[in-house]
Amino acid sequence: MDCIFCKIINGEIPSYTGYEDDLVKVIFDVNPVTDGHLLILPKVHYQDFNDIPDELLIHINKVKKRLCKGLEEVLKVDGVTFTQNNGYGQTVKHYHMHVIPRYNGDNIDFIPSAKKHSVEEIFKKLS
Ligand code: AMP
Ligand code: ZN
Repeated sequence: MDCIFCKIINGEIPSYTGYEDDLVKVIFDVNPVTDGHLLILPKVHYQDFNDIPDELLIHINKVKKRLCKGLEEVLKVDGVTFTQNNGYGQTVKHYHMHVIPRYNGDNIDFIPSAKKHSVEEIFKKLS
């Protein structure tokens, strides 16, 4: 399978590894949104959130907590945002969790499209 993240996990493509265990490899994103932007990659190929087993998601959450602690201690981050794309918006079709350090004043708006519609408009669409 021609998957760039599988190739990273197999060591065919180089990456900067931040953490690794039996189930996941954590790498630094090649195009970071902020300093310290990490990606948690399961070592087995799953396409997305619908595909990945629940037990692995529980493990990934534990890894997220561990990473947050490290980012606070090492990079003195002011916050952390998690994003995870599925289908439209997902450029690499191997499940990955973005761990994006936040810094006071970075002014990054992760859900700007939500602001284009009022709550009333959204509820009208849903009903
Ligand atoms: P997504 O749009 O959620 O699928 O995110 C894919 C992410 O993978 C992007 O943030 C890319 O910068 C990142 N990426 C793509 N290729 C590499 C690579 N070789 N090493 C590290 N990160 C990568
Ligand atoms: Zn893969």
